[in-house]
Formats: sequence, C-alpha cells, structure tokens
Amino acid sequence: MTILTSELEKHFTMELVSLLRAAGDLAWARGWNLYLVGGAVRDLFLARPNLDLDLVLEGDAIALARKLAENRGGEVVAHPRFGTAKFRQQRISLDLATARSESYARPGALPVVSPGTIGEDLLRRDFSVNALAVHLDPIHFGALLDPYGGRDDLERGLIRVLHEKSFSDDPTRILRALRYEQRLGFHLEQNTEQLMRRDAAVMDEVSGERLWHELELILKEECPERVLSRADELGVLQNIHPSLRGNGWVRNRFEQARKAAKPSPALYLALLAYRLSEEENEDLLARLRIRGEIAKVMCQTIKLKQVASDLTTPRLAPSAIYHLVQRYSPESILATALASDSRLVRQRLKLYLTELRHIRPALSGDDLQSMGISPGKKLGQVLCALLDARLDGKVQTREQEEDLARRLLG
Ligand code: ATP
Repeated sequence: MTILTSELEKHFTMELVSLLRAAGDLAWARGWNLYLVGGAVRDLFLARPNLDLDLVLEGDAIALARKLAENRGGEVVAHPRFGTAKFRQQRISLDLATARSESYARPGALPVVSPGTIGEDLLRRDFSVNALAVHLDPIHFGALLDPYGGRDDLERGLIRVLHEKSFSDDPTRILRALRYEQRLGFHLEQNTEQLMRRDAAVMDEVSGERLWHELELILKEECPERVLSRADELGVLQNIHPSLRGNGWVRNRFEQARKAAKPSPALYLALLAYRLSEEENEDLLARLRIRGEIAKVMCQTIKLKQVASDLTTPRLAPSAIYHLVQRYSPESILATALASDSRLVRQRLKLYLTELRHIRPALSGDDLQSMGISPGKKLGQVLCALLDARLDGKVQTREQEEDLARRLLG
C-alpha cells in the first residue's frame, strides 16, 4: 500500500494537513470515511499547486463541514440539494461532498445521482488521473486509493477514460480531456483517442450552458490555443460549432494577445469572432448561450471589423480615429488591432488604445459655464471641439483651450 503522509506534509502547509487530519478524525468518530480526491491528489503527484481541495465522505458532508467549523473555526456554505458544502478558513477552501454513484439515462443528459461508496464515486469520474483518492481517517491516513491505475498514467503522461461509455455518457469530458492533455503536456491514451473520435458527434446533445462552461475553462488555461488546435485536429471543435477553428491564425493571434494584455475569455472569443460573419456569430452565441458582456464584445468586434476600412484613409486626424472607434469596447478594439491584416488599422487602433482614449480637455463644463456659456447644446459643442483640438495637438495648455473656447463663441 502506498502511504503519502510525507508527500502531503511536503506539498501542503502544516495548518492544512492538521485541518485534514481533524476532518478525518471527526468523520471517523461518526463512523464515516473521509478522502481527499480528484485534482488535488493528481497535482500532489505532479508537484503542481492546487488550492481547491475536494473531499469525499461516505457520510453526511454538510454535517461534517459544520462540525469542522465548530471545532476549528471557519465558515460553511451548504448546498443541501446536492449534499455538498464549502468550508472556508482564511486562505483554505475545502469542497466536501457525499460519495455518490451516477447513471446516465441517455447520452449527454445530466446523471441520476444516489449516495454511494468511494469506489462508486471514483468510478463516475472522468479520467484515471482524476480518479485517485487518499484516506484521511486516523487509521489509514495518507493511504492511496488508486483503482484505475491513475498513478501509472501520471507517470506515463496519459489521459485515459475509465470505461468505453465515458464520452458518450458525458461528452463534456472530451473537452476536459483535451484541456488536461495540453495543460499537463500529456497524451490521450490510444483507446481514449479512438473513443473520442467515435463519440465527438454526441456533443450535439449537450446543452449550450454545459459546453460554454467547459469552453470558458479552456479559455482560462495558460495556452488555450493549444487545446483549440488539438480539438480542431480531432474533429471536436466542429461538433461544438462548424465555424470554430483552432488553426495557425488562431494560435498566432492568441499568442499575440497574451503579449499585448492580460488575456480574458472575452478577448479570446473576440478574436474567434473576428473571422465570423454576423450570422455565424449569432448562431454561435445561441448555441453556447453566451450572453452579457462577452456576447457584446463579440458582436462589436464584427461591427468594428466592418468599419475598420475607414481607418485606412490616408492622413486621418487622431480626432477622426477617436470618433470612429470610441463607441466600441476596449476588448473589441484590441481584438481588431491584433486580428486585422492591415498594418495601418493595427497602428491606428493601438494609438487609440494607448493614447487617444485617455486624452481629455483641461477645461470642464463648469469651467466653460464660469466663462459665461450657459448649459445646453452650445456648451456640448465647445467641449467636443476642445477635445478634438487636444487630440489633434492643436492646443496643449489650459490657456490655449480658453482662447479657443472664446474664439468658438465669437
Ligand atoms: P482543475 O485543476 O481543472 O480545477 P480538478 O480536477 O480539480 O481540475 P474540477 O473541475 O474541479 O477539476 O473537478 C473536480 C473533480 O471532479 C475532477 O478531478 C474529476 O474527478 C471530477 N469531475 C469533474 N467534472 C467531471 C465530469 N464531467 N465527469 C466526471 N468527473 C468529473
């Protein structure tokens, strides 16, 4: 039996190990077994930091979380519908869940869940490397539970499903597999890859919300383009939406995006949207049920691309650039600046983002009123003219602005 006590002590802080022991003891006193499971165990072997710890209990997870908070301090948010609880104590966050078994009525549907053993709980998991558990009870503390050869797969760098129906039960696992593969620098195990190719079409059955959740997780990875590229190569991307691509263009632009700014899912999606028609984009938004700010940025990127040809006019004044793009969000402007084939468009959009958008006249509306202009249309026009003069370098000081304002008022 593999005992991981010293690995746990090396990998986690003393406080955390002591809390895990306390939780294991409290569970044991009630006749329940507690385990550390999933990503935290995988990352323990890979020596990668992981602060989201998942605990599985053969017993009442909410009751245990509350008892732990009572004994050791901390806060609990319980989700009675799911039998889960989040325990928080300063920087520590533990997700506690009651062990469960799952069955799928049809491909892509949500599973039917019932309480189960740790063995059943591991069997419902996505990949062998995520189906590892460590005993936390006082008798077996640190003992590894590895029913599917997860540790061997970690050593060989393989992502392997636990059974033949894994992807058809839950096609979102296809995206998860590619995300882990690229994040960890692993490979799909041969049979897993065949099953993926076989079942990729079942992605059609999955709700937009679930696909979007997985896509968003991909876009939060360090190098999302690698996952998209692999998904394209395996025919997976087309099953999410026929307009999606993970080609060289996408790889290049995503890399550029990271050099230019702190990337966000919105910026990456704006880059993906750049090459779509308005109809394709609408269709993609509807399929993945993307709404709100991100949807807005994607739509704006397509609109901005359409007006971007105006930005190629020779000798365009900075104020003209400003008024052409000012109504678009910074992400859609940055996406267009990264994506456009025209050097002039790229330069002018960067000029807007780095300089023009921050420029303001020195005089405010109040200043103009104290010069005798009453509030109304005229005041607005003068303010606008002052801004344009600033943008175009025609005025540089407050005095020059005052002169200009007087001249405009005749
Ligand atoms: P990450 O580092 O990406 O957060 P994680 O392994 O902690 O990795 P979560 O998405 O937090 O991933 O999921 C926790 C665990 O739940 C996983 O390790 C896996 O065992 C299981 N899991 C999550 N989603 C699925 C799924 N769709 N099918 C089966 N098991 C899943």
